[in-house]
Amino acid sequence: MRKPIIVGNWKMNKTPSEALEFMKGIEEVLTGEEAADYGIGAPYVDLDVCVKNAKNLIIAAENCNEKDSGAFTGEVSVPMLKEVGITYCIIGHSERRTYYNETNEACALKAKRLLADNIIPILCIGETEAEYDAGKTADVIKTQLAGSLAGLEAGEVAKMVIAYEPIWAIGTGKSATKEIAEDCCKLVRDTIKALYDEATGDAVRVQYGGSVKPDNIKEYMACEDIDGALIGGASLKVDSFKEIIDATK
Ligand code: PEP
Repeated sequence: MRKPIIVGNWKMNKTPSEALEFMKGIEEVLTGEEAADYGIGAPYVDLDVCVKNAKNLIIAAENCNEKDSGAFTGEVSVPMLKEVGITYCIIGHSERRTYYNETNEACALKAKRLLADNIIPILCIGETEAEYDAGKTADVIKTQLAGSLAGLEAGEVAKMVIAYEPIWAIGTGKSATKEIAEDCCKLVRDTIKALYDEATGDAVRVQYGGSVKPDNIKEYMACEDIDGALIGGASLKVDSFKEIIDATK
């Protein structure tokens, strides 16, 4: 049985004092007894305050470097995240792939390094609108998965979270229908079964992301191969994230 996982992605939003305010507001709705995992992906400078004020919320980083230390100005390593208390890390978000040239190869190295320290990668994949229109969605999903999981063992992949996020649905309000989301999340699972084995595909948790809101989360969560959601805009306000928690717990 896969435990659902719902994670907010703040992107480049919230100062540490704003993060603290959010944490104070959200923790009261979680008891730790929920059937799902709930978390927030926060900017590096917010992580410490989030971890220190989190009782039942997972705190995720939004990126990491695969090297442990060295002359990489501006970068943050996995040992640094580990010491702060981070347990999950988003990698390969489409914004990082687009603006910072984060490749499948880089994702594979980051995933390997994170897993070595027991930090669970949330690997994002998904096609552009042009690729969707050209009927290339399945090819993109398979290529991104094969490249981003290269070098990982089945036992490592089984622990991961894969977020299928069609780029045309991110921040646009144009969410994928539940049928499209389910088909693509099933394809993610089937691709992992083909790359590894049945048990690994059955174990991996697959999220849908792209304009998920309090009023549509339930229909995604009812789909067989969707184990949760990665949520941008609707995770920024305590009230809307609370509504999402209430709709799913
Ligand atoms: C995201 O940032 O990964 C995302 C899905 O954003 P939004 O929910 O705003 O579309």
